[in-house]
Amino acid sequence: MAEAEAESTAGVQPRATGLRSTRQRRAVLEVLGRCPEFISAQELHALLADSGSTVGLTTVYRTLRELDRAGLVDVVRDEGGERLYLRRPTDEHRHYLICRCCGRSRPVDAEAVERWAAGLAELTGFAELEHTLELSGVCADCRQAEATAPCRQAPPLLAAESGTQDGLG
Ligand SMILES: [Zn+2]
Ligand SMILES: [Zn+2]
Repeated sequence: MAEAEAESTAGVQPRATGLRSTRQRRAVLEVLGRCPEFISAQELHALLADSGSTVGLTTVYRTLRELDRAGLVDVVRDEGGERLYLRRPTDEHRHYLICRCCGRSRPVDAEAVERWAAGLAELTGFAELEHTLELSGVCADCRQAEATAPCRQAPPLLAAESGTQDGLG
C-alpha cells in the first residue's frame, strides 16, 4: 500500500481527517455554533435536547472528540478538569483566557507559545506536537462585582490539590 505517501502531504486540513458528515455531527456543530462561550458536553447535550434533537450523550462526547481532532473546535479544561468546547471561529488554533467566575472567555495572543512549541518540534525531532494551555483568571466585570458580593468561585478542591505551599501561610 502506498498510503504513507499520501499521508505526508495531507497537512492539517480538517477535511483530510475522514470525518463522516453525519446528521449528528451537523446537529452538534450547529448548536455549538450558536454558543458564544465554551460549554461542556453535558450542556451541549441539553441544548440539543431542547432543540428537539435526539443525539445521545455518548455520541455528543464522541462527536466532540472527532471535531477536536479535525480542528473544528477549541478545547479548554475547567478547574474540575472537564473539557469545554467552543466552535473555532477561524482556521487557526487559538488560546483563551477564561474567567473562573462567569466562564466568559476571550482569545489571547499566544504567539510566543506557538513559536516555542514549533521550535521544540525542531529541537526534539518530535512530529505532530500538540499543546494545551490553561489560562484562567477573574475578569474585570467579576472583579468589580466582587467588591460588593463575592463571586461564586473558590473551589476548595483546587486549593487542596495544588496547594502545598511551603512556608507561605
Ligand atoms: Zn467574569
Ligand atoms: Zn497554541
